[in-house]
Amino acid sequence: MKRMAEVGWRSRAAKVLPRGMYGHQAVQGLPSNYPQFYSRAEGCKVWDLDGKEYIDLLCGYGPNILGYGDQVVEEAAAEQAKERDTATGPATVMVELAEKLVSLTPGADWAMFAKNGNDSTQLAVTIARAATGRKKVLVQPQGYHGASPVWTPGRPGVLASDHAHQVGYVYNQLSSLMEAATSCEDDLAAVIVSAFDYRYSRNLELPTEEFAKGVRDLCDRTGALLIVDDVRAGFRLGLGGSWHALHGIEADLICYSKAISNGHALSALVGSKRCRDHGAEKVFATGSFWFSSAAQAAALATIVQLEKRNAIEQMMTSGRLLTEGLRSQAQSLGLEVIISGPPTMPFLTFVGDTPMDRPRAATFCETACRHGVLLHPHHNWFVSLAHTSIEVELCLAATQKAMMEVKRVHYG
Ligand code: PMP
Repeated sequence: MKRMAEVGWRSRAAKVLPRGMYGHQAVQGLPSNYPQFYSRAEGCKVWDLDGKEYIDLLCGYGPNILGYGDQVVEEAAAEQAKERDTATGPATVMVELAEKLVSLTPGADWAMFAKNGNDSTQLAVTIARAATGRKKVLVQPQGYHGASPVWTPGRPGVLASDHAHQVGYVYNQLSSLMEAATSCEDDLAAVIVSAFDYRYSRNLELPTEEFAKGVRDLCDRTGALLIVDDVRAGFRLGLGGSWHALHGIEADLICYSKAISNGHALSALVGSKRCRDHGAEKVFATGSFWFSSAAQAAALATIVQLEKRNAIEQMMTSGRLLTEGLRSQAQSLGLEVIISGPPTMPFLTFVGDTPMDRPRAATFCETACRHGVLLHPHHNWFVSLAHTSIEVELCLAATQKAMMEVKRVHYG
């Protein structure tokens, strides 16, 4: 198969897009048979430019949660867009969406909206600094909170001053967090935590109860604010915030995007009363498209549908079917694998590979792709509601071949 359309468009892209494509959707770093472009998406499937169909376990890197093109969500967005979308003031759906998020989230008092996850993580820090009058923020180095210079130290074009006042800690290591906090003396504004530890190409690690409670205690003791970056995991572990679902923790600020509107451009920041008067009500926060109403209508419909269809439980069931299937395939072939993360956001690595070099995972994903299943050798995968047991069984048929290929190529 020559993939004529893909080859042609890649060559056109190379002339007008930096590197032919940039950012996390660029396929450099993935096996060479991964398409760069897709022509269509529906349910849990995508089609490349040459018409090949794939079951997509990457879900657009998270936004697809109910299924691509979910009818209820698309109708809500289209209905709203027909009335108005971007206009001189917001539509009332913005109030309804804020009410919905506040009612679902224990400890929440208000919500704000923007477009991308990075908007909400940056805004959370600004609000925390405004509310506390302090500067320092504890962050997990290599924990990802967005592409802006604030979150990407060491990248070209980024200055040391862009991430001044950040102090590093090790996820799930309370002693490192305490040490970092002590170094901030009385200038600690916030601690930002990922919903779980999903550093690129590492096995995923959920927060321990001791760590989660320790972070909350630290914030309560020092007056700092707890920011949970739920951009990636939001709505796949619980509807009221991942740390509440995992350990009953109420955050001061929760950052959402990705799955919140099933693929429409929206992010949200949900906050507590503590950071309202001197934080959310004081900072300067706006954007040309932050108040567009179709994406907000899509988000409201998405959240209602997640509730109505009991989506998290269903996705957990599908995720368990997938991960248990993968485990037993590996075991029966004598392959050592580590499957980490919650069932709705699993990740598989092969013992013997390293985070920087994953040749076994590359063979595995290359073969699965050839057999019509999109996985990732370095990034966690995502399960959607559209991945029913039927699609999971189809995935497992492909991964069985992929495991056998790993065995043949790497263990001959
Ligand atoms: N936080 C986390 C945990 C993320 O995974 C991402 C996106 N991958 C972001 C923040 C940034 O979101 P966005 O790309 O929408 O700006």
